[in-house]
Amino acid sequence: MSYENEEYRDRLSTVDKEGKRIWVYPKKPSGRLHTYRSVLAVFLLAFLFGAPFLHIDGEPFMLFNLLERKFILFGMVFWPQDSYLFFLAMLSVMVFVVLFTTVYGRMFCGWICPQTIFMEMVFRKIEYAIEGDAPQQRKLDKQPMNFEKFWKKGLKHGLFFLISILIANTFLAWIIGTEELSQIITDPIDQHASGFTAMVLFSFAFYFVFAKFREQVCIVVCPYGRLQGVLLDPDSVVVAYDYKRGEPRAGFKRNENRAEANKGDCVECKACVQVCPTNIDIRNGTQLECINCTACIDACDTVMEKHNLPKGLIRFASKNQIEQGDDKLAFTTRTKAYVAVFTVIFASLIYLMTNRADVEATLFRTQNQLFQELPDGSVSNIYNIKIINKTRDTKQLDLRLLSHEGEIRLVTGDLTVEPKGATERVLFVVLPKEALDGSYTKLEFGLYEGEQLLDTYEGAFQGPEKPLDP
Ligand code: SF4
Ligand code: SF4
Repeated sequence: MSYENEEYRDRLSTVDKEGKRIWVYPKKPSGRLHTYRSVLAVFLLAFLFGAPFLHIDGEPFMLFNLLERKFILFGMVFWPQDSYLFFLAMLSVMVFVVLFTTVYGRMFCGWICPQTIFMEMVFRKIEYAIEGDAPQQRKLDKQPMNFEKFWKKGLKHGLFFLISILIANTFLAWIIGTEELSQIITDPIDQHASGFTAMVLFSFAFYFVFAKFREQVCIVVCPYGRLQGVLLDPDSVVVAYDYKRGEPRAGFKRNENRAEANKGDCVECKACVQVCPTNIDIRNGTQLECINCTACIDACDTVMEKHNLPKGLIRFASKNQIEQGDDKLAFTTRTKAYVAVFTVIFASLIYLMTNRADVEATLFRTQNQLFQELPDGSVSNIYNIKIINKTRDTKQLDLRLLSHEGEIRLVTGDLTVEPKGATERVLFVVLPKEALDGSYTKLEFGLYEGEQLLDTYEGAFQGPEKPLDP
């Protein structure tokens, strides 16, 4: 078609003909959708910075401690034994994102992703406040170093680095918890050399990403961005230009009837291109660089309003909706399949979480320890028990032998487990010689809280090869 300019396909939007990076100066966005995004960003930033500091009964509200394999989601503790639940929860999130992307495109990137939130709602806003809008920024970058450029650049990069330190600290708080983080900050550096090194490295990494690398993260690094090609189809709703209405594009003339002049509604003002943080022209169609930030929708709506043309020349719409002139959302077979998969995974997760045992124990015979024959003729084996209490209450437990007459003797202490704690004990099981089935006897144990049987466990009991002498 005549309006199509395929040159944009030859290279990335931020790379020039010589292969050099084009620095993007997006115009300051404004409009209805930008206001919604700003409000959402405030909530998301408050959650991101606040969540690790929120505690419920002394435990963080959110924690992703990969090193100790301890995860807390919305106050719910996942122990290493619950890894399958955590895995299922993550799988649900992934399937949901895939499902959401199939229906609504890359909206997550523009509205929820922390990279975009920080870049567009924090760092870019500071840049606009200090250096001004796109034309002033361009001018400042071109001019030689002078007092104005020095203080503006110095202030901007100083603030950028301070915020990067803050983000790095918050990021660590999500991983190691606030208590450990405050120890790294307050104790002498040599006591937490690795933690301090991580803090410094993350600070520089975030500074580099937001001060220099910027939109390249979304364009060349983000794996989710790379997946768009397989996730999107002609029924996916994305930020799209209504070429049927907009073409043939032509400049605006006052008091002209555009339909009679055979002109579409696009007045070729390029406002949509100027606000784009990834430097693309959405009128070329859906492109991998588009993060669905909707800045071009706001920009175009403003232009349409100014020229008394209907809004929505750029809007959320699928390729098929634009082609058919019908804004009905299609519920395709692929979408139905994703909904079915998501429902199964999510229902399994809910079922497993609601049936998750409050107390979990592992009981095993101590490795490389032989049985002992006691003076009274009975035989003893040594065992280890590890009990995890996932509740917020102290548990006083009791281990009993269910399958045989015998005795359980704890080497030390009892089976009391602190809230959200774990205890490990060594114990002897003593059986009379008549009870043995030979060199190996299968035992069954019961773990009790009061008179309530919580769970049963099997264990092997080793004895002498031959029957003991009477
Ligand atoms: S902002 Fe709207 S009218 Fe202006 S160039 Fe873009 S699509 Fe055309
Ligand atoms: S094309 Fe529009 S929605 Fe896509 S990144 Fe650019 S401004 Fe944002």
